[in-house]
Amino acid sequence: MNSLLITACLRAVHAAIVRHESDIESLDRAIGDGDHYLNVRRGCDVLLAMQPQIETLPPGAAFEAIGMKLLSTIGGASGPLISGFFIAMGKTLKGLPEPARADFARAFAAGVDSIQARGKAGLGEKTMLDVLIPVSRLLTELDGAGMPLPEICSRITAEATSTMLSTRDMVATKGRAYSLGERARGHIDPGSKTCEVAIVAVCAEVLTPDPARSAA
Ligand code: ADP
Ligand code: MG
Repeated sequence: MNSLLITACLRAVHAAIVRHESDIESLDRAIGDGDHYLNVRRGCDVLLAMQPQIETLPPGAAFEAIGMKLLSTIGGASGPLISGFFIAMGKTLKGLPEPARADFARAFAAGVDSIQARGKAGLGEKTMLDVLIPVSRLLTELDGAGMPLPEICSRITAEATSTMLSTRDMVATKGRAYSLGERARGHIDPGSKTCEVAIVAVCAEVLTPDPARSAA
């Protein structure tokens, strides 16, 4: 992985989030306060503007810079969680000029751990962790088994989508939807939808042939 791949993924995630504006917005309007799309969109916009800086940095420093920028940009409960995810990823990749896939899997797991520690949430609480924890576990498992990249991406895409959909039947025990009790059932968690949209976009982007990006 190198920083050109990171900026290509940022562009892909930005476009995917914009494409899913009405889905994401309506979910947070149904079981939150309606600001989630704007929070995430603001974060995506500042990261697009940071591309020239990111491309000069090694991946670890690039992820840390992304996290620090998001910390001062995204509001809501999700802001510090998403920022912490990227900062933890960056710290894990520090000193590696071209991290390998196994390094990325380790960094992703560290990012998810940071969200769990900060948000004090786990599986089944109707939060973004219901997508991120299983995706991280699957990534570690498939990479450890030596699976080729296209198969990893297709399995991860399917996992992100099925786990996002599984939040529909959950009752929230964390976040704003907690106060709704049973009324939150029947609605997908907005943070899970955002994570799914981002993960699906990254999986498609890393398979785009471009030798300069070093996705191997
Ligand atoms: P807010 O809830 O403050 O309005 P956002 O709307 O930006 O913030 O984000 C809401 C999303 O944040 C939820 O859909 C959920 O996925 C995620 N979230 C909320 N609390 C937690 C938590 N404690 N741990 C993990 N994710 C959380
Ligand atoms: Mg909200």
